Parts: sequence; structure tokens; C-alpha cells
Amino acid sequence: MKTDFIINAAKAVQQTIITNEHTLESLDREIGDGDHYINMKRGTTAIAGMHIELASLPPAEALNKIGLKLLSTIGGASGPLLASFFMAMAKMLKENGDESNLKFAEAFAAGVQAIIQRGKADIGEKTMLDVLIPVADQFVLLTTQNCDVKLVCASLMHTAEQGMLATKSLIATKGRAAGLGERAIGHIDPGAKSCQLMIEAVCNLILKE
Ligand code: ADP
Ligand code: MG
Repeated sequence: MKTDFIINAAKAVQQTIITNEHTLESLDREIGDGDHYINMKRGTTAIAGMHIELASLPPAEALNKIGLKLLSTIGGASGPLLASFFMAMAKMLKENGDESNLKFAEAFAAGVQAIIQRGKADIGEKTMLDVLIPVADQFVLLTTQNCDVKLVCASLMHTAEQGMLATKSLIATKGRAAGLGERAIGHIDPGAKSCQLMIEAVCNLILKE
């Protein structure tokens, strides 16, 4: 992974969040407090605007800076969680190297582990982790098997979509929606939706390049 790619991915991610304003805002209005779109827009816009300062950095340092920026720009539950993802990913790349897709997948998985630890949540609790955990597992599995990158991207987009859709039938046991009990059933988790959109945007960018 190169820093140029991180910069392009940041732009693609910001774009998909803005394109999906209505979806993200309505989902968080239904089972949260309605601020998820604003939070994500603020964070992704700040990161897309960092391209000049990121350009000269190695990938691990760029990702760490992104994490720090998210900590100071996204409020709510999702800010510190996404910040810890990028900082843990950066740490893993720095220690483990960044020269292969497998190293990238292992760093992604370390980022997801950091979210699990910080938020004390797991799969099945109707959060972003319902997308991120299966995607991380699949990413590591496929890159360990040396799968073609196109196949990896297609599979990760599919896994992310399945995980996002699965949150619809769940009761929330973490985050704001946890207070709603059965009333949360029938609604997709906003954080799961934004993570699915971001994964889709990054995979599409890889497929295009
Ligand atoms: P807030 O909930 O503070 O208003 P956001 O609306 O930006 O913050 O983010 C809400 C999303 O954060 C939820 O949809 C869920 O995916 C995610 N989330 C909340 N708590 C946790 C947690 N403990 N672990 C993982 N993700 C969580
Ligand atoms: Mg919210």
C-alpha cells in the first residue's frame, strides 16, 4: 500500500459519504440521534483535506495522522472508534511491514481488534463491527490464499453488504440503539452502513486502478 493510494481512498470515501447523506441521516434518526452523517462528513472531509501534509509520509505515518485527525473531528461514539482503527492499523504496518496485500489485511484486522477493545462490543450487537469483523476475517483468509486482488475486492464488497443487511434483524446491545430493545429491529445500523459504503468505495478504487 502506498500513501498515494491512501490519499485517493480518502477522497473516494468522502465522496460516498456525501452521496449517501440522506440514507445515513435517516438511519441514525431512526435508531440513534441523527448525527451520524454530520459526524462522518466532518471526519472524512477533514481527512480528504490533509492530502498535502500526508503526501510525503510513509503509509503507516499517514494512517496514524488520519487517526489523530478523526479523534479531534468526529464526535460521538464513532469518532474514537474509527480513530483507534487507523492508529492500530498504522502500528501494525510499522511493526509488520507494508509490502504485501497480506500485511495490509493483517493491519486491517488489527484495526478492527482495536475497535472491539475500545467499544467492548463484538459481532451480533448491531454495530459497525457486524460489517468490519467478517470483512477483516475474509480479507486475511483470501490474501493468505494469495487470491487475485479483483476476487478479493468483489468478495469483501459482498461480505460488507451482507454484514450491513444482517444488522436489520438484530436488537442492539451497544451504542444508543441499545435502549430501544425490539424497536430497533427492522432498521439497519448507521455505523454498519457507513462502513459498508467506505469499504465499497475503497474496493471500487482498487478495481479501477
Ligand atoms: P453516536 O452514537 O454517539 O451518536 P454516531 O451516530 O456517529 O455516534 O455513531 C453511531 C454508530 O457507532 C452506531 O451506528 C454503531 O455502528 C457505532 N457504535 C456505537 N457504539 C459502538 C461500540 N461500542 N462498538 C462499535 N461500534 C459502536
Ligand atoms: Mg448518532
